[in-house]
Amino acid sequence: MAKKVICFFGPQGSGKGTQAKILTDKLHTPHISTGDLFRAAIESKTALGKQVENILQSGELVPDELTFGLLKERILQNDCADGFILDGYPRTLTQARLLDEFREVDVIIVLEISDEESLKRLTSRRYDSATGAIYNLYTAPKPPKEIIHRLTQRPDDTAEAIAVRLQKYHQETGPLFSYYQDKVSRVNGEQSIEKVAGDIERALVL
Ligand code: ADP
Repeated sequence: MAKKVICFFGPQGSGKGTQAKILTDKLHTPHISTGDLFRAAIESKTALGKQVENILQSGELVPDELTFGLLKERILQNDCADGFILDGYPRTLTQARLLDEFREVDVIIVLEISDEESLKRLTSRRYDSATGAIYNLYTAPKPPKEIIHRLTQRPDDTAEAIAVRLQKYHQETGPLFSYYQDKVSRVNGEQSIEKVAGDIERALVL
């Protein structure tokens, strides 16, 4: 697999972050999650963090120019010269066009899951702030019993915010499938983590 620019698409909870991390270890290419970049800005209370905190909590999208500005700053760093894996960018046609002017995307991997599965996975998703690990109470990976008491939920993993996020995904990100056309590879996201990773690897060598 040659290093290149790979984007993950898929509804919330489809496993983009999990699979991007697996691929990053295989390809030794950086994993860039715009959601993680925003959460880090919120955590460190930067001006940007303060600006986007309420937007993230509600499940709405951060304005395109602001999001692209943050991404551009990251992909200009040396480690991205040979390629990178995007998780959560682009999410709108404007974002796709802004990126295209700057760097061409080679492959789009779409992790397909139903909205019902998405809702189920997100409401049972838990975060361990002590280690940074993400667990799921009903699917995988399940947390060890002794740490369950310290697990928390992401502030936007509420039923209301999930509904907004899914609506945005279908409405705003949906049109990108025809924008990228034959760069798009679809993978069934409702399989085990290992099976999904295997399907992604096969899609990338085609
Ligand atoms: P998810 O996709 O599961 O909702 P993310 O961690 O990828 O979670 O993103 C969390 C939030 O960060 C989004 O709901 C949105 O508010 C903001 N965000 C992340 N990426 C983008 C983007 N490309 N454009 C606009 N907003 C974004």
